[in-house]
Amino acid sequence: MEALEKIRKMPKVELHVHLEGSVRPETLLQLAQRNGVTLPATDLEGLRKWYQFSSFEHFVEIYVALSKCIRTAEDVELITRQFLAGQAEQNIVYSEATLTVWTLKRLAGIALDDQLAAVNRAREWARHDLGVEMGLIIDIIREESPEDGLAIAEWAVKNHGNGVVGLGLSGIEAKTNPAVHAKAFQLAREAGLPISCHAGETQGPWSIWSCLNDLGADRIGHGVRCLEDPDLVAHLRDQQIPLEVCPSSNVCLKVVNDWHSHPLRQLHEAGLTITLNSDDPPMFGTTLTQEFERAHLDQGIPLETLKDWSLQAAGNAFLPEAEKADLMTSVMAHS
Ligand SMILES: [Zn+2]
Repeated sequence: MEALEKIRKMPKVELHVHLEGSVRPETLLQLAQRNGVTLPATDLEGLRKWYQFSSFEHFVEIYVALSKCIRTAEDVELITRQFLAGQAEQNIVYSEATLTVWTLKRLAGIALDDQLAAVNRAREWARHDLGVEMGLIIDIIREESPEDGLAIAEWAVKNHGNGVVGLGLSGIEAKTNPAVHAKAFQLAREAGLPISCHAGETQGPWSIWSCLNDLGADRIGHGVRCLEDPDLVAHLRDQQIPLEVCPSSNVCLKVVNDWHSHPLRQLHEAGLTITLNSDDPPMFGTTLTQEFERAHLDQGIPLETLKDWSLQAAGNAFLPEAEKADLMTSVMAHS
């Protein structure tokens, strides 16, 4: 039990978590009711059943249905505040959270600038009242047109430093070659906006290679299937490209059968730069603290290694060098 207490108190950094996917179940039900959106569930038990995913495509359907409950900038501010309160409770001192602003604009007509202002109000509150920080990653869904992808990248670049810290790539891996969005990511790279791409989750090494070679990804979201290609593993290790590993997400979306068969240890023993993350915590019945606990209990990862992973997450945050150094110092000093 002592180990679990140490994990809970350990200062943590989370690099891969989605704001819409972090909406508290109680809040989701309230938003649906307030905004006149009909969900297939009307209570917590029903939501738990709804969050049983038969495939990645099924997960995306539910994710879009959930996103439809967010109708106003005030809703965006509310879910961000609640997210940050949850991070603070877990002693997650810094988070990089993704918001799919283009989808919220399309579904609810919330202007991108209004979404960002809402997130920034929540960030400001959390900084002063909770002592935790957050940076926003703006993602391009793979299925978007290259033109829309470019528009998203332009807006993200314009707001680099105004809460936005990076550009992401999400969506259904099997459907689109990342190279479709090469121009958008080139724009980000040239403007110095860092890049993180979901890849190597439902698809194999080709998808990771494409994100590295065609888009210039600085970090890979998931990436667990890199193990299918020894050359790719060597490349990721030599270039120290971090993986944002989300084990419970992989279990729930059937990338792996269960926690015990997750390749977390293998990735670590291959010398890769690992960070642990919760992805969409309530949808996967987890928290970042629980991901740490399960890594320790189910995979036998020692506490010292978990601390190293927190430090690696801090060292690979999309922050200016001085801020990153401060974050690393604070993670080291309190662990
Ligand atoms: Zn994700």
